[in-house]
Amino acid sequence: LLTPNSPTAELQALDAAHHMHPFTHGQGLRDKGARVITRAEGVWLTDSEGNRILDAMAGLWCVNLGYGRRELADVAARQMMELPFYNTFFQTTHVPALNLAAKLAELAPGDLNHVFFASSGSEANDTNLRLVRTYWAEKGQPERQVIISRWNGYHGSSVGSGSLGGMKGMHAQGGLPIPGIAHIDQPDWWGEGGEMTPEEFGRARARQLEEKIREIGPEKAAAFIAEPVQGAGGVIVPPETYWPEIRRIVDEYGILLIADEVICGFGRTGNWFGSQTMDIRPDIMTIAKGLSSGYQPIGGSIVSDEIAAVINGTEFNHGYTYSGHPVASAVALENLRILEEEQIVETVRTRTAPYLKERFESLTAHPLVGEARIVGMMGSIALTPDKARRAPFAAEAGTAGLITRERCFANNLVMRHVGDRMIVSPPLVISQGEIDTLIERAWQSLDEAQAELAAQG
Ligand code: PLP
Repeated sequence: LLTPNSPTAELQALDAAHHMHPFTHGQGLRDKGARVITRAEGVWLTDSEGNRILDAMAGLWCVNLGYGRRELADVAARQMMELPFYNTFFQTTHVPALNLAAKLAELAPGDLNHVFFASSGSEANDTNLRLVRTYWAEKGQPERQVIISRWNGYHGSSVGSGSLGGMKGMHAQGGLPIPGIAHIDQPDWWGEGGEMTPEEFGRARARQLEEKIREIGPEKAAAFIAEPVQGAGGVIVPPETYWPEIRRIVDEYGILLIADEVICGFGRTGNWFGSQTMDIRPDIMTIAKGLSSGYQPIGGSIVSDEIAAVINGTEFNHGYTYSGHPVASAVALENLRILEEEQIVETVRTRTAPYLKERFESLTAHPLVGEARIVGMMGSIALTPDKARRAPFAAEAGTAGLITRERCFANNLVMRHVGDRMIVSPPLVISQGEIDTLIERAWQSLDEAQAELAAQG
């Protein structure tokens, strides 16, 4: 077996020979090799060459507490010795799962008091799909089956959650979406707003929900699912008029509202949940990622008293071997304890996020950057050759983003690109000095990308 100290070339060759990576073109792995990450501490990754890399993406939007928290490792080890696994099927339970469910009921807004566990956001959204359809069937309205979501929304990679999502590239592979899913457009004013003001555009995009409900028939509409702030679609912060109008429509037609909090949850937007930041009042929330700060794979659906009463009144033929896994649950509980005890969400809201916003928005002074949008600790900048016209590049969409991402990586900064937008979502514990380093490296990388784009013509 190779070790983290093995030569990088050997690690890369073995990786390329046998390891199939998510969302990666295999040829790239064979040509250039993958960067091998060996350790991490705080917001810093170390690779097999000994470089220290600032992780401005918190892994995949999940390591909210930062890397290297000993307490989480200790809790996992203790739980593995005490009870490494037991299921929660067939009227059995265990202490970590019941405590975690109760803690989540306490943290979640309104009457979201009941949790169905999964191991990931994808699984949790698959649960939601069946929860919603079962709920309406049990309520005597079995024709209410259509779930409406948004183009370019992201809800996971399984067949169900990929169908709920609106990533056309995913739909093209494997015959998605499954029946009974309808999509409306996203509230991306920068990219799609045309001549409308953001307020007009926000209202217009929300009203597409009403049009879609009327088109499919209000008696068939079951639910609307959306991220409070779209993450993987490019940190799309909706205009202020958007969510109030969505709420009006959801109430008027009596459909369920699912807030996918997989990225927005657990402090990312400056509150415990993005639904609070955006004042959404959902019937169901999807959670994962920051629930355990990524230290263990765990996700879930938090549902209202009313939905739980209906589902608990029937046999719900659904569940995962690892629903409420004891080690994952214990680690998630410890993660929540630390977030609370160290007042991390409050610190984000009052100090870290305002500082990040000010520094991040300063990037709009760079010639390559059109707008910056940021909510709490998730933000993105739009790359453009012409700010005034919000113009796209002549090159294929995403080329400028990819070039910039590679420049960032070469400068030991992880930022993600979505098309020609560059994203940050750092650990919530990032310091002001580290934010300064992030911005300096981003600026330097933008300079280099601009030169490379100019050289390409
Ligand atoms: N929902 C949202 C909003 C996400 O961003 C993601 C992943 O990025 C998912 C669901 C899927 O979660 P997972 O990758 O844990 O299955």
